[in-house]
Order: sequence, then structure tokens, then C-alpha cells
Amino acid sequence: MAENERSFRAPRGTFDVLPPQSWARSALARLAMDTFALSGYAPIETPIFEHTEVFERGVGATSEVVTKQMYTFTDRAGRSLTLRPELTAGIVRAAIEHGLDRGPLPLKLACIGPQFRQERPQKGRYRQFTQIDIESLGSDDPMVDAEIVEVGVRFFRKAGLDVQLLINSIGHVAESCRLGYNKVLVEFLRANEAALAPDDRARIETNPLRTFDSKDARTVAVMAGAPLISDHICDDCRAHFSAVLDLLISVNVSFELEPRLVRGLDYYTRTTFEFIAGGLGSQNAVGGGGRYDGLAESLGGGSLTGIGFALGVDRILLALGEGAPPNPVTVYFVALGEAARREAFKVVASLRESGIGADLDLGARGMKGQMKDADRSGARWAAILGEDELATGDVTLKDLVGGEQERIRMDDLERRLTS
Ligand code: AMP
Repeated sequence: MAENERSFRAPRGTFDVLPPQSWARSALARLAMDTFALSGYAPIETPIFEHTEVFERGVGATSEVVTKQMYTFTDRAGRSLTLRPELTAGIVRAAIEHGLDRGPLPLKLACIGPQFRQERPQKGRYRQFTQIDIESLGSDDPMVDAEIVEVGVRFFRKAGLDVQLLINSIGHVAESCRLGYNKVLVEFLRANEAALAPDDRARIETNPLRTFDSKDARTVAVMAGAPLISDHICDDCRAHFSAVLDLLISVNVSFELEPRLVRGLDYYTRTTFEFIAGGLGSQNAVGGGGRYDGLAESLGGGSLTGIGFALGVDRILLALGEGAPPNPVTVYFVALGEAARREAFKVVASLRESGIGADLDLGARGMKGQMKDADRSGARWAAILGEDELATGDVTLKDLVGGEQERIRMDDLERRLTS
């Protein structure tokens, strides 16, 4: 920034959340936490930064998030800390640290908050973004997987967003399962190396599964003929997956099997899934998750299994569009003269106490200015209080939608507003 330039802008890839759009965002967060609470998921909060190793070991040292996208800094005591790029590793760290993994299990947790990844910003992809997340720790019963997915589907239904659920099983880490498949895949990728995009060639040894995620047309064409993990997972993983799908069918959750679905973070095992919304272009995943049965062990815990998902709040709001913001103010007071203003101030406080959204002009403006503010507030009613009304204990109630107005007793106001 030039030295004499005095205005600042939010850093690249970040944004401010301002009214009126902020209403929709906070309503969505509330809906999510309420929906999760109804299914027994308790709120948890963990720090926004963790020791860098939590993510290196948890998310995985070969994932792009860890190798390319983390905001890592050294604090004044020389410790390496990282702004969290995702929630799961920190939540599992907290569960182990506080012995929550000793039971009762499964431990069901929900969280919402900002995440940080140094990605190339574009529509739906930011450097600070908000995720809603649930995790269920300590049981590998297929019913736990099905519950997590079903809760996600229910949340989207309540939020009014049509999503497609893609689901896959990527097996577990054993020669008889994913490791064996990896070898078959690496062989295939080597045989087709020349046809792959250069970036994807480099991944063959480090993270072969991720080639399925490539957006490069050359790689996509090669991967159309790649061997599929669904043909190579072990009998146990196959039985687990088919039990999950049966349970989803039993609660009318529709899904699409996507044998090429792999997820960006290294910790995933078995069930993996993604929620896709229309109208978002290439950034169309509004959420995703999966099982991570080895994560706790890589963080120094015992064999605590787990499954969870993270939903992208910013993308969900983009997909929902600019609907009318929810408006909590029912009545806006227009008060003329000092005595009327003081009375309005008291009545507004008492309406708020009763749970009715009420507001008033705090700037002692004239009638015209206050009526304009009443309209702008989005309130259904304007309550006009002049000297005349004040003298008789009345108030003039104007319907800001229909335009009619009538004079009523102030004592009847609350009843009128709630009837
Ligand atoms: P992930 O943690 O990568 O599995 O992502 C879960 C969800 O978070 C995605 O489906 C997106 O909706 C959202 N998300 C991930 N990265 C970003 C980002 N950079 N900007 C906005 N939303 C994101």
C-alpha cells in the first residue's frame, strides 16, 4: 500500500459479512446447530490455531492442504502454529487431550467456524471461509455412518437447498484393501503417464488416489478408464458399505454411487461422500466428509474411529441466492416530540422483553425521515406516537404492507402484534 494511501481493504480471498446478507448467514448457522442438536450432537469449540504438527500428522503430509495451503507462522516463543485449514484434526486432538475417547461413545460433536487455506480465490473459494461440521467418534458401526449422512441430508432439506449426494467407499489401509488397490492404480497411472497433466504425473507416487480429483481434461480422460476402488476393497469394507447404503435407503435418503469419489484430505477411510449443489460452476461441492478410522492414532491417541462432514457455509449461501433476509423487527416506532420518544423507548423495551422484535428512531428525526426508516427496517408495522395519541393513551398502527392504519389503545398493542 502506498504510504500516503489511507484506506485499507480486506486481504485477498477474504470478505466482510455485512447486513442485510449477514441475517441469512446467522440464520443458517442457527438452523445447522439446532438440527444437529436434535440428533444429539453437542457443540464444541477448539482454537482457531493449533500446533502445525496436528495438521501435518492429522490431515496428512502429502495432501495439498498441508503442502500448499496452510497459513503457518512462528510465534514469539519459536513455536510453529497454523491457522486451522479444517476442523476434524483439532476436534480429534481435543477429544484425546481431554480423555473424551474413554466414553461414553460414540461422542457426537458439532462445530461452526472460520477455516483458512491459501487457495487461488474465485467464486465459492476463499482464503477464509466458514464451515459447519459434525463428527461422531468411537464407533465403526455402519449405523453411525448412515446417521451422519442422514443428518446432513436433513439439514440441506431444512435449509431449502436441493443437493445431490455422492457416496463411495475407499476401503481401509491394508494390503488386502486400499494398499493393494493403490498398487494396481499406480501401475495403471505409470502405463498412462504420458497422457496425464504434468501436475498429476508428480502425484503418482505420493498420492495416486488424488488423480481422480484432477480437473485437467487430459487426466480426466485417462481416469475414465482407470481401475476402480469399488472393485478392490476387502470383504469387510464391502459389507460395511452395503450396510450403510441399506440404512440410507431405509430412511429414504437418495444417493448416487460414485466410484471415482476420493477426498482431498489424507485421513479418509471407508465411507466417503460429497454434497453437490447446482448453479455454482466448478466449485459445486457444498459439503463433504467421510470416515477417518486412523486419524486419532496418527495424533498419538488410541484406536478411536470416527466419521464426520464439513459443509461450506459460503457456498451454501451462494447456492441459496439472495432470498429475502429474515427480518426480526415486527414493529418500528415513529415518535414525535420528546415525551412521545421517551414513551416509545419504554414500550419498545417492554415489547422486546415479550419476544417481539421492535425498533425506534434514535436520532430524533422528523416524521418523514422516521417513516422512511420504518419502511427501510423491513418491519411489518409502524407504530406512530404523536402528542395527540400520547394524551389519550393510544397509538396509530400502520400496516406497512397494505397501507391501512388505525388508532388503537396502547394497552392492546402487544396483543395486536401477536394475533
Ligand atoms: P473439505 O474440508 O475440503 O472437505 O471441504 C468441505 C467443504 O468446505 C467443501 O465442500 C466446500 O463447500 C467448503 N470449502 C472448502 N474449501 C473452501 C474454500 N477455500 N472456500 C470456500 N469453501 C470451501
